Amino acid sequence: MNAVVIGIGLIGGSFAKDLKRLYPDVNIVGIDKSEAHLNEALQLQIIDEQGDYDALAEADVVFISIPVDALVRELPKILDAAGDETVVIDAGSTKELICKAVTNHPKRRNYMACHPIAGTEFSGPKAAMEGLYEGKTNIICEVEKTAFKLQERALAIFHDMKMRIRYMNPVAHDKHIAYVSHLSHISSFMLGKTVIEKEKNERDIFDMAGSGFESTVRLAKSSPEMWTPIFEQNRENVVETLQEYIQNLETFKQLLLQKDFDNVYREMSDTNRIKQILKGIPLTKNRT
Ligand code: NAP
Repeated sequence: MNAVVIGIGLIGGSFAKDLKRLYPDVNIVGIDKSEAHLNEALQLQIIDEQGDYDALAEADVVFISIPVDALVRELPKILDAAGDETVVIDAGSTKELICKAVTNHPKRRNYMACHPIAGTEFSGPKAAMEGLYEGKTNIICEVEKTAFKLQERALAIFHDMKMRIRYMNPVAHDKHIAYVSHLSHISSFMLGKTVIEKEKNERDIFDMAGSGFESTVRLAKSSPEMWTPIFEQNRENVVETLQEYIQNLETFKQLLLQKDFDNVYREMSDTNRIKQILKGIPLTKNRT
């Protein structure tokens, strides 16, 4: 198998590692704007060689994992250079603008729009890990626009990586992901900011930070280079989620000011059903 990974960081590097584990005969060409990341990826044997878009014509599979603003710019050029039998998969965290960028591209049938819901707060090839995608959901958008034979090739790889597949249209994807991913990141960034600003003595934060603080603020370590274009592309949906979130924070503050602890209790106990939701148990049967 000839594979090309464009953007050999956490997401692309993890995909490349799994390709190597699953298909020992694979040859992986890495393309990245960071020379340092390419050298690291070579050293770590995540890729076999560095290359450029000339490698795309002979590729069976191309995986693009670069920031979403670069994706919108590069995807049409990548499809221009892809071979007729190449399947081009992206991993961008937004889908509407990326899909729109190639709606009328003559090689639209070679492209499969994906968003693997997998990751960590770390970046670059050193953060890449084997098995990152195992048991994770991969959202595929506009699958009907991808040539059937190429869909099959991509789906076989996702199956071998043990990913679960969900199909969605790009508008619904961006709306839902604003709640479950983008808002969580803003909330974590702003929690981190609030505590850092209040507790100027960083040593105290470090000493007192319990596992609750640490796990809630984990996402605040994420890369601003990756997240700024995501918030830019999904601005309208993100603003909507923020309005609802701010309203909930305001309500909670008012309950505290009014010493209404019955409702403070209720707010939290109502939200405890997140336990069932995250375990995938239907709420109607289990809600108390
Ligand atoms: P990452 O670790 O920072 O890796 C991205 C790599 O792409 C970096 O080496 C970066 O170089 C390079 N790059 C940037 N622009 C480029 C361009 N125009 N051409 C070639 N290479 C370029 O980021 P990541 O976490 O893997 O994220 C990659 C993509 O996956 C993003 O679209 C993101 O939305 C999506 N995604 C991320 C997660 C997550 O949790 N991290 C989850 C699902 C999907 P520089 O460092 O020099 O900029």
